[in-house]
Amino acid sequence: MRTLFIGDLHLSADRLDITQAFNRFLDTELDDADALYILGDLFEVWVGDDLAAPFALELARKLKQVSQRLPIYFIHGNRDFMLGKQFADAAGMQMLPEVTCLDLYGVNTVILHGDSLCTLDKAYQRFRKLRSFAFARWLYSCLPKKKRQAIANKIRSNSQSSNQQKSYVIMDVEPSAVDALFTQTHCKQMIHGHTHRPAIHDLTNDCKRIVVGDWYEQGSVLVVSADGVELKSLPFGAS
Ligand code: MN
Repeated sequence: MRTLFIGDLHLSADRLDITQAFNRFLDTELDDADALYILGDLFEVWVGDDLAAPFALELARKLKQVSQRLPIYFIHGNRDFMLGKQFADAAGMQMLPEVTCLDLYGVNTVILHGDSLCTLDKAYQRFRKLRSFAFARWLYSCLPKKKRQAIANKIRSNSQSSNQQKSYVIMDVEPSAVDALFTQTHCKQMIHGHTHRPAIHDLTNDCKRIVVGDWYEQGSVLVVSADGVELKSLPFGAS
């Protein structure tokens, strides 16, 4: 048996090829899987469950079917943090706290999206602090649909242009934040996404930090079993 982890699919109506690849993944890669964990940024942008795009609703129906066979867990990313219970229920996804510990075949593992580990990205951390306030989220949800759509568009284009200017170091995780989380959670293994730098890092003290890859040019999945961990890339063209 095995457990699968994915993240950073950044699904959008502009990139239906990714949705297609994800559908194929759901059809072909889940045999014998114990569970599927989606570690955030499933969607490129999310402005509210009431504004879900048609492709997203269609995907929800598919995920719901899959969830009859195995549990699907979801942790919010920085792009889809507004995804709510209504959509999660429709997709059969169980929402987890943004930092979650689990026993993975005998290894204590902490899972998260990963944006909170990028502590050198000061501008983003300020935004993060704000969005975690329930009140700010509630206020946002009270805005008219049109306004929320406009905000989402602005966030998207801002982050596209600011990412180009930020240096490599700022966008990766900060080792001290990683150490602090290991200490705080007493876990031996960490799995996250967000940085789009898929890798298995063997750290000191027998700790492992595993990063799942994004789905911009190919799919990426982490397969964990009692035998170990394997990062697989899934070419978009493959059947
Ligand atoms: Mn992210």
